[in-house]
Amino acid sequence: MVAAHLWRLSDQWQRSASDQHASGFSGGSATILLGPAHACRFSIVPPAAAPVTRRNTIVRFVAVAALACVSMSPAAHAQSILRDAETETLLADMTAPLVTAAGLRPSDVKVVLINDDSINAFVAGGQIVYVHSGTIQAAKTANEVQGVIAHELGHITGGHVSLAGRGAQEATGISILSMVLGLAAMAAGAGEAGAGVLAAGQQAAMTKYLAFSRQQEASTDAAGAKYLNAAGITGKGYLNFFKTMQQQEYRYGITRKVEYMLSHPVSSERVAAISETLQSAPAWNKPLNQDWEERFKRVQAKLDGYLLPPAQALQKYPEGTQTVYAHYARAYAYHRSGYPQKAEAETEALVASKPSDPYFLEIKGQILLEAGKPQEALAPLRAATEGSRNSPLIATTFGHALIATENKANYDEAKRVLRSAVARDDQNPFAWYQLGTVYERTGDPARAALATAERASMVGDHRTAAVSARYALAGIPQNTPDWIRAQDIAMTSANSIDGDKRKRK
Ligand SMILES: [Zn+2]
Repeated sequence: MVAAHLWRLSDQWQRSASDQHASGFSGGSATILLGPAHACRFSIVPPAAAPVTRRNTIVRFVAVAALACVSMSPAAHAQSILRDAETETLLADMTAPLVTAAGLRPSDVKVVLINDDSINAFVAGGQIVYVHSGTIQAAKTANEVQGVIAHELGHITGGHVSLAGRGAQEATGISILSMVLGLAAMAAGAGEAGAGVLAAGQQAAMTKYLAFSRQQEASTDAAGAKYLNAAGITGKGYLNFFKTMQQQEYRYGITRKVEYMLSHPVSSERVAAISETLQSAPAWNKPLNQDWEERFKRVQAKLDGYLLPPAQALQKYPEGTQTVYAHYARAYAYHRSGYPQKAEAETEALVASKPSDPYFLEIKGQILLEAGKPQEALAPLRAATEGSRNSPLIATTFGHALIATENKANYDEAKRVLRSAVARDDQNPFAWYQLGTVYERTGDPARAALATAERASMVGDHRTAAVSARYALAGIPQNTPDWIRAQDIAMTSANSIDGDKRKRK
């Protein structure tokens, strides 16, 4: 039980809602107010398939998160956000030039990875592009994913979500995001709050799911092509991705589900329309960025190891293969299937190949921690934290390991590490959970309550947030930064509770 708990909570890919908040939101409660999700819900459904299936696919996409028991397809897992420092850094790096070309600021736009093995990407309000893990796993190159992201940026600059969502947002005040958030909340130990959010989101998303028009898709394609060209990134991947989609149309059921292109099948016209724009640009013949491509392959292998059934991962990356990618994938596959020694051997091989690679050190430490060896995990995790310039996600795992040693001598460092993590990534419920734990163990119940208030406010549990914030206020010296923060949360939560009451009337 303890081991399972550890595995889930220390999970490096924290099922956390953290990054789904656009910058500008604070506290997290705003997330729930986003409009209905708008996927580019144009799935490739084989021409022969019944239209009913297509409809069901749409519904399932929004419903999977809420109805973990829905078994319409094996792909219908609960949906959650995947968080990983290496993946997030790569996605941010390879997206930044496109974001700039779209006239947006890289610091405002986020690419969020959703744990779903189907191929899809969508925007759902704010400046957030959601990409299914299946898209990353199925893509042949990083450049293909850049094409997909360029298209989604076109939906953001086109204002398609806010236009379509007006009214619906008023009516429901909730979206698919709340489902993701709900699951994240549960993973982070806020079960009840999570379940509440989930039920509301499920209902709303089921009834309010809107489509982009054909015209919007065409203008978005054009915008995406423009951004690629302006960023000096070849559109070859974009076209390749479309072609793959078209081929998958005829191999439906064999490969992974393609929910991308749902309402508008990739037509030859659509491909032809952007081909000319892309092919006539100087960027067309630019070689692929080898740094991105190499890092992308690592991330793909990591996702395979983490997400594929272990047996399938081991088949794809057989024992004899000694590449970095194979070690990466096998480390997770062995770890998940309960072979700690084999998993550790794979991480040793990774670290031996690049001793100061922070992500190799991270996986080594994570696997040791989850194998019940927190003391041994400290050195690699400390080095990974430093090597990644204090990546908040890695720092959180490090903080967790420090606490897991149950050695009082480590608690001050844990506090320091976790405080810096929440300061830089203040949308990580799990980091707040850990910080609350260490405050509790060091006899500071008021700050433990403040951490609980932060976490509850983040996942939309306003009542817990209000109660905890009031408790914190009573114990923290007045007018200190922590006291002021507690006051903020107390007020915001009280307002949110009032708002909820009014809405119900
Ligand atoms: Zn689209």
